[in-house]
Amino acid sequence: MKRFLLVVLGSGVALLGLLIVNTARIPGAAEPFGSSSSVRIDATAAAERLAGAVRFPTVSVQSGAPIDTAAFQGLYAYLERSYPAAHAAMRRETIGGLSLLYTWPGTDSAAAPVVLMGHVDVVPVTEENRAEWLHGPFDGTVADGFVWGRGTLDDKVTVLAALEAVEQLAAAGERPTRTVYLAFGHDEEVGGRYGARLIVDTLVARGVRPALVLDEGGFMTEGAIPGVEGIAAVVGIAEKGYLSLTLTSRASGGHSSMPPSRTAVGALSAAIDRLMANPFPSSLDGPTAQMMTAMAPYVPFGQRLVLSNLWLTEPLVIRSLQGTPLGGALTRTTTAPTMLDAGVKDNVLPPEATAVVNFRIRPGETRETVIARVREIVNDTMITVAPRDSATADPSAVSRTDVPAYRLIEQTIRAMAPESSIPVLPYLVMGGTDAKYWSAHSDRVYRFLAVPLGDSDVARVHGVNERIGIDAFATAIGFYVRLLGGLNGL
Ligand SMILES: [Zn+2]
Repeated sequence: MKRFLLVVLGSGVALLGLLIVNTARIPGAAEPFGSSSSVRIDATAAAERLAGAVRFPTVSVQSGAPIDTAAFQGLYAYLERSYPAAHAAMRRETIGGLSLLYTWPGTDSAAAPVVLMGHVDVVPVTEENRAEWLHGPFDGTVADGFVWGRGTLDDKVTVLAALEAVEQLAAAGERPTRTVYLAFGHDEEVGGRYGARLIVDTLVARGVRPALVLDEGGFMTEGAIPGVEGIAAVVGIAEKGYLSLTLTSRASGGHSSMPPSRTAVGALSAAIDRLMANPFPSSLDGPTAQMMTAMAPYVPFGQRLVLSNLWLTEPLVIRSLQGTPLGGALTRTTTAPTMLDAGVKDNVLPPEATAVVNFRIRPGETRETVIARVREIVNDTMITVAPRDSATADPSAVSRTDVPAYRLIEQTIRAMAPESSIPVLPYLVMGGTDAKYWSAHSDRVYRFLAVPLGDSDVARVHGVNERIGIDAFATAIGFYVRLLGGLNGL
């Protein structure tokens, strides 16, 4: 017995030793990098130009409704007037009717080019919320240190910041060594099928194999990551897939005074309940494990011990992540019932009831595996399960973090605040971006916008009172200026 205890105790001590060794082995917080003084930006003038772009209501509408093409054309003429040096240096093409592809030819035509993406379309403003806007959503107001309006965070900020950077460099007579493409889609908010997809097809057909693709997706978050103090930059290295399924439940209708034991509504409710009670399995594989590992140097020792030993602590980490909607979304395919429809009168049994359930699919699963699992769980002859006719996508490929492209983004972020060492964390983007169309062609596709985003700002994206700080916009411009300046290092 004593021997047994000694063995147990001995292996416990050995395990503890191993955990500590692993914890000590992780790299330290990044060294400060670069200097923040080299980039000068006239933030006030840039903010006015962004405000001007907001005034064109380039709204993406769901399929079928007419697009306000004049708003898009107006914006494009405005961009040409606002960035003359950039437009003189770059060739501009229209792709897919309304999307823009700029080419800034590099001095070395043999060097792999770089693609900077963004989108000019914005989501609509709901009528019921319009009164809550402090400034008109398409007025483009500059007030209280912010530019206000739809698109200031998503995603005219990206388009304008990239053009500001090119303008500054082109006006100074600079020319990149490798070719730079600016690709601005016009329908990202409805899936990007006619904009970004065609731009990617066009570039691939021209033989473009980019050294780096950068699109929106991650931000400089503040306080969003438990244990990490201050600002952290989250760089999307993959994005989740998207699928909506319609569950249709059919039964014989009739008078509600003599209902059968199973009704259309009853069967449908039970099916939704089963789906919610059987969430998709969680895992830390892929981007989320990389995020946890990258966080380790920046968190307190206890947490670091856990994050440096995921081989042992994974179940613990998953359980703690599942405590929040964000953590849950990082570890599994999510299940969200979003629409219900049944019945026309309170005393009539509807012959049909439908529900739409939206799934965001994590890397490792596909639309097909999700549908198969949902059918297995629903498992009711009264109910059919079918994909809804909306933008669907499998999860993107996962981009590499051990390549010069990722290191360049990392160093560019760090160079913006050389005195502090900003954690740069790879992560899984939960929404969709236009970058997904590169999935089959490149493993150097990243999703990041150098804008600080606090908790209260997150709700403004697609919400009410969308706005960006003038300083934050200048930060984004500075990021692009530095990134373009660092392309030789790729
Ligand atoms: Zn967007």
